[in-house]
Amino acid sequence: MSDCLFCKIIAGEIPSSKVYEDDVCYAFNDIAPQAPTHFLVIPKAHIGSVSEVNADNSAVVAHIFEVIAKLAKEMGMESYRVVSNIGEQAGQSVFHLHFHVLSGRDMTWPPG
Ligand code: 5GP
Ligand code: ZN
Repeated sequence: MSDCLFCKIIAGEIPSSKVYEDDVCYAFNDIAPQAPTHFLVIPKAHIGSVSEVNADNSAVVAHIFEVIAKLAKEMGMESYRVVSNIGEQAGQSVFHLHFHVLSGRDMTWPPG
């Protein structure tokens, strides 16, 4: 999508701090980290949010979770949180599917 911030990051039109990349997904550090480790994992193909996941594209989501597990092991993350906000009321501000991966500090539950 031409006016999507994360599509522009994938295209290299906006710089980002890369954590991982393959044919399906891209991971990069969040510009406003909420924990000592805070990166985002996004599909390269534009999907608006979890609410647009379906039988045709869910393999991408499964792959992203494999990547998250692999990166967590490689980075020595024993405890971490994976978050995806769907819709403005839940805190979604960029409407390209992304999974926040947060680690390195105590976290509360339930979230605010
Ligand atoms: P959301 O609020 O949609 O769940 O998460 C969007 C995330 O994208 C936020 O945590 C925000 O800090 C991050 N973000 C917004 N703009 C940029 C940017 O230009 N570069 C990077 N690396 N992260 C961004
Ligand atoms: Zn996009």
